[in-house]
Amino acid sequence: MSTKTSSLSTFEVRRTDHPVPDTERAALLAAPKFGTVFTDHMARVTWTTADGWHDRRVEPYGPLSLDPACAVLHYAQEIFEGLKAYAHADGSVWTFRPTANAARFARSAQRLALPELSEADFVESLRALVEVDQAWVPRGEEMSLYLRPFMYASESFIGVRAAHEVEYLVIASPVGAYFTGGVRPVSIWVEREYHRAGPGGTGAAKCGGNYAASLLPQTVAYDHGCDQVCFLDARSATYLEELGGMNVMVVDADGTVRTPEVTGAILEGVTRSAVIRLLADAGHTVREAPVALADLLDGIRSGAVAEVFACGTAAVMTPIGRLVGDDFDVTVNGGQAGPVTMAIRTELTDIQYGRRPDRHGWMHRLV
Ligand SMILES: *Cc1c(COP(=O)(O)O)cnc(C)c1O
Repeated sequence: MSTKTSSLSTFEVRRTDHPVPDTERAALLAAPKFGTVFTDHMARVTWTTADGWHDRRVEPYGPLSLDPACAVLHYAQEIFEGLKAYAHADGSVWTFRPTANAARFARSAQRLALPELSEADFVESLRALVEVDQAWVPRGEEMSLYLRPFMYASESFIGVRAAHEVEYLVIASPVGAYFTGGVRPVSIWVEREYHRAGPGGTGAAKCGGNYAASLLPQTVAYDHGCDQVCFLDARSATYLEELGGMNVMVVDADGTVRTPEVTGAILEGVTRSAVIRLLADAGHTVREAPVALADLLDGIRSGAVAEVFACGTAAVMTPIGRLVGDDFDVTVNGGQAGPVTMAIRTELTDIQYGRRPDRHGWMHRLV
């Protein structure tokens, strides 16, 4: 962190002259399509090597002007985060474990040779934006305001080194229930040829480059009639790592839950750690250990594995009903959502929406 970073995180608010009219906003909030609708403002902080982080502001949402030589367009020096703001019944607005996202953002910055943003600036940027745009927080069942902090190399320079100019922004997008018409198990293509991350690479950082690497295998998954792709370890293609944007867990018939340990190639999900905690609270033994694909398939076929699910902020917990690969196609739990998956999913969303006591102190009030 730059020594010039101020500990005073005050964001100056520069309001738009052209907010979306109330009736139009109400129509947009009624059925938002994920990631397509954005609020009136965005939060922003600028960094230079000379001045550190400065010019903390909330400003009108709008296009960025980039020089064609802008470093991020060439070398992908970029990181991001994803979390949600939830409206509670009393009208207050909360987010879930923002300091965990702030800490991960700082780790991602370190790996991508970007400047670290302080936890205070990260959390205040969310609060300041949501306060200004609080009318955009949807109130319906399982709806939320998705918050997308990101940071990129903004310097116009195509030499290869860490940029001397960086922008941090937060944009916000109202989102509906991930599953419309109830939770539906997904089918997963298990990819052997392509990997998203390797030993010593950027797998543990939340960076756009990892997603770029996951897009071709994602189309391979679609070609095989699957919804999403699960990656295996790059060294041996033997062990499960994670999906393109979600961690994966296996529930054994004896109630034990297994999930790959975060070894450096896997993104450490905030949802993952919360789910591990709730599972442990519910009396499950949770083992963070390698999960071999061959063992998993044997377990599914024999009945030793009861449920498989994926977890992440966007969908919370997604049951996996089918695993498909070059030489296998297996159904998990009869293709149905399992009871452990659904119980923990309900408990977690109840905490997030303020319907159940927040016994772990995970919720952080924004407005
Ligand atoms: C963001 C992300 C996750 C899930 O993390 P959460 O903090 O739970 O949202 C898992 N895997 C990858 C690759 C991700 O980018």
